[in-house]
Amino acid sequence: MERIYYHSTNRDLAPHYTPPVTFKDALFRGLAPDEGLFMPKILPSLTKQELKEIKHKPYSDVAFLVLNKFLYHDIEENTLRYILEKIYDFKLPIEPIDNITYLIRLDQGPTASFKDFGAQFMAQMMAHLKTDSSDITVLVATSGDTGSAVGEAFRDLEGFKVYLLYPKNEVSKIQEHQLTSIGNNIQAIAIDGKFDDCQALVKLALSDNSLEFLHFTSANSINIGRVLPQIVYYVYAYINIARNSEPMVFSIPSGNFGNSLGCEIARRMGLPVKKIIIAVNENDEFPKFLNAGSYQKVSPSRNCLSNAMNVGNPSNLARYFDFYGGILTKEGTIHKQPNLENMKKKLFSVSVSDVETVDTIIKMNSKNNLLIEPHGAVGIYALQKYRENNRAEPAICIETAHPAKFPEVLEEVLHTKIDSPPSLLKYKSRSTKVTFLNNNYIEFKSYLLDNK
Ligand SMILES: *Cc1c(COP(=O)(O)O)cnc(C)c1O
Repeated sequence: MERIYYHSTNRDLAPHYTPPVTFKDALFRGLAPDEGLFMPKILPSLTKQELKEIKHKPYSDVAFLVLNKFLYHDIEENTLRYILEKIYDFKLPIEPIDNITYLIRLDQGPTASFKDFGAQFMAQMMAHLKTDSSDITVLVATSGDTGSAVGEAFRDLEGFKVYLLYPKNEVSKIQEHQLTSIGNNIQAIAIDGKFDDCQALVKLALSDNSLEFLHFTSANSINIGRVLPQIVYYVYAYINIARNSEPMVFSIPSGNFGNSLGCEIARRMGLPVKKIIIAVNENDEFPKFLNAGSYQKVSPSRNCLSNAMNVGNPSNLARYFDFYGGILTKEGTIHKQPNLENMKKKLFSVSVSDVETVDTIIKMNSKNNLLIEPHGAVGIYALQKYRENNRAEPAICIETAHPAKFPEVLEEVLHTKIDSPPSLLKYKSRSTKVTFLNNNYIEFKSYLLDNK
């Protein structure tokens, strides 16, 4: 197996050639020195034979098959197997919506959202690959679910200190309780601003040379350590749902596009994917781009019921541009157009309103006897939109969080009480702690300095 190195999405913009780095370097740096995102230089492939052999195997076996292809030269095989068995010990329920449409629930992890898949893996990789004896400071901007998933994944891991930044008024009550109650080496910071502001503060700190001694790393969805494990559940869903080797459509509720990027990589590795539906809420910058070829971020981002997707300038879009031959900077400036025709062949994107989201939740509950939350509903509605103009191909929708994370919305529209899974009940007994800060880098910086 050829070793996989990682280069930056900005590599052709930089005045000097920067050599590609190993997985370990990409993992701890988070962002490339030229502020681009790390991309695998080559992708390994998944053969039909491998897909056949892995059918009906436990999730951790599928994860090993996929991730060992990336990490063969970086982590001992037995160690990787051990880690995967330890962190992926929960189920991925698959439910039929109709006879050609399925829903896979990625909400059975320790914090009840799909973010657990990436966060758990990334934390374990960092803990195993860390050689430096100094403590590492992990910075996370979160629109809700990332923070708790990352916090929980690093809780009590020696040598790591984690700061979770979230927009004060834009996370649900349960999300906030989760974020502020992890405790120990995990600190929650409520910013008087939007998610994009939190993300901007993190990016400023990461590129601030005067803070180098804090040994920062970022655990946002840009971290390659979170992207790679998100390839796995598409493979798992496919082998457990496809009958022969028919191509399938995947509909993915999307915000920063890290989740759907896993599907794009799986497709490029050889998974039979017919179309990737990037389902977004009223933050419609990407469907507009696919239509018109010009990109305008939504700023400030719009507040929608699917709050983890209130993103006006998705950070992983730069990676999509790279895959399709373009260059996009983190500010949202196009330096080179991607191949738009190709993009449209493989990707479909549609913006779903809050009204359509609520209608879908109600309809799925009454007609299909399926309990879904707002993010999952965006994905299901987007698939319906896609099918209006396309043949009804077999499809898999992704439910990204547990409905009990959104009791306010669901109880209001469905008039029933939503039971919490054990993963969420554990938070009820924990006490909370949070620091409030203005949306101001100087203030954030002095907080970090005071806390070191
Ligand atoms: C983060 C999140 C999303 C969006 O995923 P991206 O990888 O940012 O596109 C969707 N749904 C839920 C519940 C989330 O937490």
